[in-house]
Amino acid sequence: MAFAEYPVQSLMYITNRPELVFTEGKGSWLTDHNGKRYLDFVQGWAVNCLGHSNQGMIDALVAQSQKLFNPSPAFYNEPMLKLAKQLTDSSCFDKVFFANSGAEANEGAIKLARKWGRKHKNGAFEIITMDHSFHGRTLATMSASGKAGWDTIFAPQVPGFPKADLNDLASVEKLINDKTVAIMLEPVQGEGGVIPASREFMQGLRKLADKHKLLFIVDEVQTGCGRCGTMFAYELSGVEPDIMTLGKGIGGGVPLAALLCKAEVASFEAGDQGGTYNGNPVMTAVGSAVMTQLTAPGFLQSVQEKGAYLREQLLALSSEFGLGGERGEGLLRALVLDKDIGPQLVEEARDMQPEGLLLNSPRPNLLRFMPALNVTTEEIDLMIGKLRTLLKKLA
Ligand SMILES: *Cc1c(COP(=O)(O)O)cnc(C)c1O
Repeated sequence: MAFAEYPVQSLMYITNRPELVFTEGKGSWLTDHNGKRYLDFVQGWAVNCLGHSNQGMIDALVAQSQKLFNPSPAFYNEPMLKLAKQLTDSSCFDKVFFANSGAEANEGAIKLARKWGRKHKNGAFEIITMDHSFHGRTLATMSASGKAGWDTIFAPQVPGFPKADLNDLASVEKLINDKTVAIMLEPVQGEGGVIPASREFMQGLRKLADKHKLLFIVDEVQTGCGRCGTMFAYELSGVEPDIMTLGKGIGGGVPLAALLCKAEVASFEAGDQGGTYNGNPVMTAVGSAVMTQLTAPGFLQSVQEKGAYLREQLLALSSEFGLGGERGEGLLRALVLDKDIGPQLVEEARDMQPEGLLLNSPRPNLLRFMPALNVTTEEIDLMIGKLRTLLKKLA
């Protein structure tokens, strides 16, 4: 079908989309309406952790959809219970609440912290978050986010989210007062430009939280589920948070998210939290198939190896073209460009012939790489080769 025949005008405008309609995906490859193929190093923004149309996920989706779609969130169902156990078994947390998006899981974390503050800390409700952070697009999570301009677009904000600077412990300590109930951050700022919180900072936050009786919340919507080479990124700094949120990778491409906490923090009472689709068996069955593959022997080891390989190749490109180096954890990495050519590289990579390349540029001087966790070294080589061609052309 020609692009002009698609009824694109029926969709509400939210962003400039290229004139492409994607019709199929397999592993690290996407195909558009013209049959052109693209090597996908975006994967739905770090969502499709097992690539497109993973067989284990398809089998789980088909099998569950033939058994039961939706008994109601007020009843137990088997996939919901199985996935909750998989998550508590592979993390330091004891309790799980399922949601549909990362923002909704973060809303849940904010509510849980405020509830805990009401019960155990004299009504404390302020949650210290980080400048340049990203926690979602609902009103409360936009207020929690430290994105420039987000404080005014849909003003007034939800109050109670003072901002500190990432990797600056003193800036956090300065904001602590009687109203503070929690500290919340991404272990690696994703949308902010792939900026890891240092091990020192994470450990310092844990100590601050203990000293002032605060909850330590990690937003692992982007960093969790193997993305950083460990099941969860908090493991990299040797700390145990009190609350964690998951999204993106946990569903591998279907709308699924989760809020996890330690037993002593689980303070919701009947009616405090819910949602029509929480723990939906079709979605949790897919999430369970994802977790089964992520926990298979050797899987996370292979993510670490491929992350190290991607890092080497990016560093080689960086020295070849005199760029600003690279950073990240596991398979969440960024190449620092010398000029603001990120958006141009993204477009030219996409338009390459005969096969395109999908990349992301969260900041004009940065490219972010979030391939499938089962990407092959050959696919990494192919991506690097295409990027080298483009860098030469723009040099
Ligand atoms: C993507 C993202 C979110 C929001 O998730 P949605 O599913 O889009 O609501 C929240 N936090 C982080 C760190 C993210 O990367």
